[in-house]
Amino acid sequence: MNSGDKLNGLSAIKVMIVTVVLIFNVSIVMAEVNWQDNPVGAVFAREGGVCPEGTFRLKSGGYEVYTIVSADKSYQPASLYYGVNDVDKQKVDSMVPDGKVPTSMNCFVVKTDNGYIMFDTGLPSSKGGKTLDRLASLNITPDEIKAVYITHGHFDHIGGLLDDDGKAVYNDAKLYVPLAELTFMRETMKEATALIESAYSGRLVSFETGNLLEDNVLPIAAKGHTPGHTVYRLGNILFVGDLMHGPALQLIDPSICAGYDADRNQAIISRNTILSYSVANSLTVLGAHIPVNGVLF
Ligand SMILES: [Zn+2]
Repeated sequence: MNSGDKLNGLSAIKVMIVTVVLIFNVSIVMAEVNWQDNPVGAVFAREGGVCPEGTFRLKSGGYEVYTIVSADKSYQPASLYYGVNDVDKQKVDSMVPDGKVPTSMNCFVVKTDNGYIMFDTGLPSSKGGKTLDRLASLNITPDEIKAVYITHGHFDHIGGLLDDDGKAVYNDAKLYVPLAELTFMRETMKEATALIESAYSGRLVSFETGNLLEDNVLPIAAKGHTPGHTVYRLGNILFVGDLMHGPALQLIDPSICAGYDADRNQAIISRNTILSYSVANSLTVLGAHIPVNGVLF
């Protein structure tokens, strides 16, 4: 059975079981890291080791993954969720009484047999992005990155692809962009997309989801946040991009949307499907806006 079959095959009963497992998992994650304190920059690694500020390391399924906090943003206002898809203010406020939803802005680098590969790029340095400084603190140069996988075309994910002069930051990397998202980007952000396509000319790979890519990376469609939003599985790790913006709300109730989700009903479907798939397959889930170290569970 391939991963797509597993995705489609989840029954309603399984989803209910998964919800119980998820709630159980929340308590585990919360026991490890106190979200209320959200100590961005604190040293935390699932498997030992001390990481430089704004970076975290975990080992999973033979891969070494670095979370790089691209911008030190620890909280979102709860109002970001008010009234989105009829979620009422009282419900949100009861879940985060101080009005702050813990968040982050992360990208991820994985050491593979073929070199380093990256998932999203964070903000550019000119907009306060710390990706490059923090890569340097890990002794990784941009030229060592061999592939960059983009979950979707929002600025906090693709902004780090170019420098101030519009030149490619990752000169030796193939750039993987889901075809549906590339089409959406070409339509809605023409100029920025043209710049990226020119800077990465000859190295840009667009693809349909569901087929294994070069680095054993499996792209899985998770549209809703944007039309081509895609999550990536590598071994037992799943990089979920913006599937979720505030787990303190959305891991408890995946039907809660942030105002950033373009198609809210579709975003809810994707959130439920991907979360269920992750639990059913015992995946380690990492997200771009998951607070502190990027680990959802
Ligand atoms: Zn984002």
